[in-house]
Amino acid sequence: DGSMKSQLRGYFWRISYSVCADVPFPPPLKVVILISYGRGFGDNVPAPFITFEATGFPPEILRDIHAAGFLSPTPIQAQTWPIALQNRDTVAIAKTGSGKTLGYLIPAFILLRQCHNNPQNGPTVLVLAPTRELATQIQDEVIKFGRSSRVSCTCLYGGAPKGPQLKELDRGADIVVATPGRLNDILEMKKINFGQVSLLVLDEADRMLDMGFEPQIRKIVNEIPPRRQTLMYTATWPKEVRKIASDLLVNPVQVNIGSVDELAANKSITQYVEVVPQMEKERRLEQILRAQERGSKVIIFCSTKRLCDQLARSIGRNFGAAVIHGDKSQGERDWVLNQFRNGKSPILVATDVAARGLDIKDIRVVINYDFPTGIEDYVHRIGRTGRAGATGVSYTFFSEQDWKYAADLVKVLEGANQHVPPEVREMALRGGPSVGKDRGGMNRFDSNSGNGAGRRWDSGGRGGMRD
Ligand code: ADP
Ligand code: MG
Repeated sequence: DGSMKSQLRGYFWRISYSVCADVPFPPPLKVVILISYGRGFGDNVPAPFITFEATGFPPEILRDIHAAGFLSPTPIQAQTWPIALQNRDTVAIAKTGSGKTLGYLIPAFILLRQCHNNPQNGPTVLVLAPTRELATQIQDEVIKFGRSSRVSCTCLYGGAPKGPQLKELDRGADIVVATPGRLNDILEMKKINFGQVSLLVLDEADRMLDMGFEPQIRKIVNEIPPRRQTLMYTATWPKEVRKIASDLLVNPVQVNIGSVDELAANKSITQYVEVVPQMEKERRLEQILRAQERGSKVIIFCSTKRLCDQLARSIGRNFGAAVIHGDKSQGERDWVLNQFRNGKSPILVATDVAARGLDIKDIRVVINYDFPTGIEDYVHRIGRTGRAGATGVSYTFFSEQDWKYAADLVKVLEGANQHVPPEVREMALRGGPSVGKDRGGMNRFDSNSGNGAGRRWDSGGRGGMRD
């Protein structure tokens, strides 16, 4: 409403702000909106569009939006529309399901209404997305909301013959939605011209990088005139994504929607965290695996490719386990994933990078054999279970060396009403490893998940080994 809007505007003059807003977006959630300036630049960030009417979109577009039954812009739309309409580069960090697609498509439609490019000379808008499914979903939204703007759209993705796609491309398209691999092939065949591209969208950029598409993305972007607008969307904000953002975007505005706590507040996942010393991890893992129902799908995350291989080999003696990581060829990965999907090999050992692009729905248990290097990855990993109303369980081995993440972890656990092991809380409060070393109690693990084995560890004299 008006008063909130003016209140918001006042905050824009600060370096950053955060507000809470109740948004009528299903499911109703409390969303924290945080905006900050592009690094080092004092640019003014426009106020968000709180209502559809405030956007000033053409009436036909508003009609289609209302026809879809949408009541108000989602937070990401409210924040990014005014920025995108000013032709500024934006990087938006938001989880899936937040309405990003229309966040960039409507500014794209408006751009297409204004410029009078001939689609036969190449696309004006290029959207890169990680997978075929996602690309076709985006195309569906173009069809649904772009009709009144008379927008043409072509989808290019791998795993399907090139012929029909090339033919469609020949007929001309205002918007091309593509996966980087296929688009790069078509580019190398000189079958597409990027001379007219003035809006580039990187959707789910983190996932594209995880899938190894960075070289293709860079080659594609090199062919696009530098005088363009670039919008980048990502669910996470690790180093690699920051790097490509700083290479491809010019003085971007950064929009963060949501917070880690909120992402993790998936209450259908039971999160067990145990303080487990390195040397005990394998034994504890076997206990957990043994306790699972036969055939339940389990994914085990390790920090390195080498560790993945080692672990799969050693647990493989008692449990069949498949491995997936960046050194595996595409063919191997596909095969392994199939074995996992169809339940022939229900235990999968993976690195973050290899696992992030996977869409496997019925995972029962996620095990963090190593704690990830960031709380976002933790949330991402455990989010692989407990999907679509199913209940899931995660086990996390936390060690003294991971103390840096203790405070974040405590926040996530509390946000999801989960038990916080006292050792982890202690590390969070101390800002260092726990002092439990000389108490012999550091090896206790969460009693919820225990089956008596903890006693063995306590009497195992591990405290002495450390000192
Ligand atoms: P994301 O790309 O962030 O994962 P999508 O763009 O796919 O999210 O949107 C998720 C769903 O929300 C879609 O079904 C979309 O049609 C719907 N949606 C988009 N904008 C709104 C809105 N303003 N109000 C309600 N639903 C919306
Ligand atoms: Mg999306």
